[in-house]
Amino acid sequence: MRMILLGPPGAGKGTQAARIVENFGIPQLSTGDMLRAAVAAATPVGLKAKDVMERGELVSDDIVVAIVSDRIDEADCANGFILDGFPRTVAQAGALDEMLKEKGIGLDVVVELTVDDGILIARIENRIKETGGARADDNAETLKKRLDVYHAQTAPLIDYYRNTGLLKSVDGMQTIEEVAASVDGVLKAGT
Ligand code: AMP
Repeated sequence: MRMILLGPPGAGKGTQAARIVENFGIPQLSTGDMLRAAVAAATPVGLKAKDVMERGELVSDDIVVAIVSDRIDEADCANGFILDGFPRTVAQAGALDEMLKEKGIGLDVVVELTVDDGILIARIENRIKETGGARADDNAETLKKRLDVYHAQTAPLIDYYRNTGLLKSVDGMQTIEEVAASVDGVLKAGT
């Protein structure tokens, strides 16, 4: 199964992705995690991405499209994958379509987690408290920026994937277990 998990920062994409990894035996491809690893290792990509990420802005499409394409070619993606945090712009979604076409594969489903902004802010403030702001971009100012970027650049993807017929929306404001059950429901229906 090849799927995208879509939703604003703090929607619970990471938590749900971890469960899907277990249940379906497919890897989670988180561009945020890949970029943070590149920053930590001070690779050329990491050096380019560091300041942009700390400001809560988006890294250039070229960089993320290239790292996702390379990652999909790895052996563990042969049976599918979960894209988490990618695509984040309509341009990236177009690039993904092209990339998958060239690889001779396609997407099965796009799962959107819907959560109101007020709840997201409370959740991320909690994550900052619990982790002591372990992520360089987990702070109040960057959070507001990341939410603005989501609404301006990523939310248009919801219509993009609705138009392809691949979109399934799940209420991300339920408990973690309820969200998980709803996600399982749409995945069973879609596979
Ligand atoms: P995330 O862990 O998904 O919240 O991503 C953290 C940060 O990494 C974002 O705020 C962006 O700066 C960068 N990033 C992650 N994925 C992408 C992407 N697909 N396109 C551009 N920037 C990204």
